[in-house]
Amino acid sequence: MEIVESIELMQQRMARTRAAGSTIAFVPTMGFLHDGHLSLLKEGRRRSDLLVLSIFVNPTQFGQGEDFDDYPRDFQQDCVLAQSAGVDIIFTPTAMAMYSTGYATEVNVSGITSGLCGASRPTHFRGVCTVVTKLFNIVQPHIALFGSKDFQQLAVVKRMTRDLNLPIEIVGMAIYRETDGLAMSSRNVYLNSEQRCQALALSQGITLAQDMVKQGEAEAGAVLAAVSSHLGAQSLIRPDYIAVCHQSTLEPQQQIDKDSVLLIAAFVGSTRLIDNGYLMDAS
Ligand code: AMP
Repeated sequence: MEIVESIELMQQRMARTRAAGSTIAFVPTMGFLHDGHLSLLKEGRRRSDLLVLSIFVNPTQFGQGEDFDDYPRDFQQDCVLAQSAGVDIIFTPTAMAMYSTGYATEVNVSGITSGLCGASRPTHFRGVCTVVTKLFNIVQPHIALFGSKDFQQLAVVKRMTRDLNLPIEIVGMAIYRETDGLAMSSRNVYLNSEQRCQALALSQGITLAQDMVKQGEAEAGAVLAAVSSHLGAQSLIRPDYIAVCHQSTLEPQQQIDKDSVLLIAAFVGSTRLIDNGYLMDAS
């Protein structure tokens, strides 16, 4: 496994790989890898000749007062896990190299970035789209894999890739969960034991909503009220949003149909967690 920090060296390496006719799969991450990340890497490994993982805690997708400085990092452990998942190259550029003095260009997707996480984190998706575009340009992958835990991010990246005619297949992967249902996240490490316990209310809320729909409930309002009351019963949880939206447009829906997704963001203590699930055809 190679570790590449230099953008120029990475571009040369990728140009050689493409010239040799090899296919490249790419998994962008902020590191502190867990089994959710590894599920993306394993699928990328299966689908390509060369598997690239990027580890870059991107400063521009964090807002003022968010957890950029505290974001968990463990590069040595990430290397061990990446190797076990069959990664060929870890690309770890520095923030200085990615955003050199005078950096002035941003990529902005409008519309689907305005609600949900975009409402409470107004600069977040501009940071995500900018860094993903830069990483795509550097790595030149054939496919890129993203987790559907970050449901809005996946929708935004798909839209951006289509709108900018980027010749990259975006693969969305299922949410990887702890055995008790909590969606895996690098930020789960922030939770103390009581918060960890109460954080289960997010995935329980999704299961509750899916069960209501299975039993015939079709009004989003009724489902939202039930989920809201379930989260509200937890003293350490402060919901940011609970929404039923169309899976592609992310527009709020009144009536639940096969495209409906329940999306939740909530602070557990000071840790902001997200989770989501389809409301129909949930097995
Ligand atoms: P992050 O390091 O949090 O920026 O995540 C990097 C990628 O891993 C993103 O595409 C995430 O959606 C994905 N990811 C994070 N957590 C999970 C999970 N529990 N299951 C599947 N994918 C995940």
